[in-house]
This record gives sequence, structure tokens and C-alpha cells, in this order.
Amino acid sequence: MLGTALAVVLASVPAAAPAAGPAQRTEEIGRSAQGRAITAMRVGNPRAPRKVLVVGEIHGSEIAGRAVTRRLRRARPPRGTELWLIDDLNPDGVAARRRQNARGVDLNRNFSVGWRGGGRAFDTYYPGPAPFSEPESRAVRDLTLRIRPRVTVWYHQQLRLVTKRTGGDARLEALYARRSGLPHRRLDPLPGTATSWQNRTLRGSTAFVVELPGGRLSARSTRRHEGALLSVARAIAPPPTVRRRIPSATTASVRRAPTRGATTASTAPRSIARA
Ligand SMILES: [Zn+2]
Repeated sequence: MLGTALAVVLASVPAAAPAAGPAQRTEEIGRSAQGRAITAMRVGNPRAPRKVLVVGEIHGSEIAGRAVTRRLRRARPPRGTELWLIDDLNPDGVAARRRQNARGVDLNRNFSVGWRGGGRAFDTYYPGPAPFSEPESRAVRDLTLRIRPRVTVWYHQQLRLVTKRTGGDARLEALYARRSGLPHRRLDPLPGTATSWQNRTLRGSTAFVVELPGGRLSARSTRRHEGALLSVARAIAPPPTVRRRIPSATTASVRRAPTRGATTASTAPRSIARA
């Protein structure tokens, strides 16, 4: 609760310079099998209680979603939300223009919920020797458990749909579909996917897949997907905190604070923020 109130208070403070963009920070969340850095960029207020995770690419041959995550770097997330943007979860796959990681594993079959073994490296859907056998899936697993995103969107290509009833809140999927113009469709459940694992593991969290069209995303489509993502972020944003009037006795003590030392002065505003 305190976090929510603080976020609201901070969000209402005007920016120091009009030209200043939203706060951004980059964090390395892990390394690929070949040692490439996997980074996440945070956009918005780090104290915002609701996190939205966006993964631009997990299959190295399906990279159109990176245009959306890159554009979102300049977005202003709704009050009380912070975006975590991963352009490339599978940088080795991108370098090789291949679906799988460098060890031939389809990362979106390497998660533990419904994981099914079999096949060999570089088969299209090779799930790896064990759940979370790959450094890339472990990196996003650990990040997910740390930041507990309320929503996660995973970009793929090229089925042109938003997955329906993936296990989270179907209304959020439907909202994204409506705003993006993509159909909202049910797919047969697949073994070991990131979305199944997230929806099963994090209570109250929603993860779904956006299958973009083939090829590159136009500037117009990129803006539209940015808008769809931000409308989902608005839908999960915490309600605005109602600021209560300060009881007159407290007001009096705050007014007297300078003569009574720093203790009262520093505790009084905190009690207001908690309201
Ligand atoms: Zn894919």
C-alpha cells in the first residue's frame, strides 16, 4: 500500500525539466548460451507497484516484436505501472536467424509446466534435456519471480492473432486484441511454454502471446501495438489514491513541527502518504 501511495505522490511531482523523458534503466538479467548479454530496460517509476513485462523476441527467427519494445522505451507508462522491456531473450538465435537458441532448444518449450521431453537438438520444437535447462529461460524465470509482473506480453510471428484463454485474465487479452486489430483466437495448449508457466506460477498474473504478421512491422502497426500494450497497462494500473484531509490536530502538530524537532516533521508526511 505504501508503495502505491508513494508512486502516486511521486508521479504527481512535475518533471524537473520539460524536455526530460521518462526514467529508463537497463539491467542485465542473464547471459545466453554463447555468452551474449540479455538485457531488460525499465521504463517508468521504479516504485510503481504494477509491473508489465514485454518480450520482443524469444524465437530468433521472429523478431518483429522488437520494434514494439523499442518504441515503448519512449512511452509514459500509466501511473502506478512500470514497464520491463526485453528486446531479445534469444540473442544467439537472432544472430543465427534461427528459432532455437545456440544449443538447438526451442525456448518456448523449455518451461516446466506441461514440459514434454523428446526429440533432438535443432528439431523445430526441441524442448531441451530438462525444464529450464537453458540459461535464457532461466533468466526470464528468475526475473519473473523477482518482479512478479501483473501482465506479460510475448511477441511471436506470424499467425496474426492474440491468444485466447491462455490461463490469465481473458479480458486483458481481448482488450489487446481489440486495440491492436488482431483476432482473439484460441490455440491448442502447447507443452512447456512460457505463458503456461507464468499463468500457473504467479497468482493474479496474466501472460499471453501476440502473434504478429510475417515480415517487418510498419511504423503505423508498431504505434498501434504500443497503444494496445499501454491500454492493457492502464487496465491494470492501481486505482488513484484518495488523499484524506489531515485531521486538525495533526495539522497543528505539523505546523508546530519546526519548533519541536525533526521527528514530528519527518513522520507526519509519511502518515499522509499511507492514507
Ligand atoms: Zn514463436
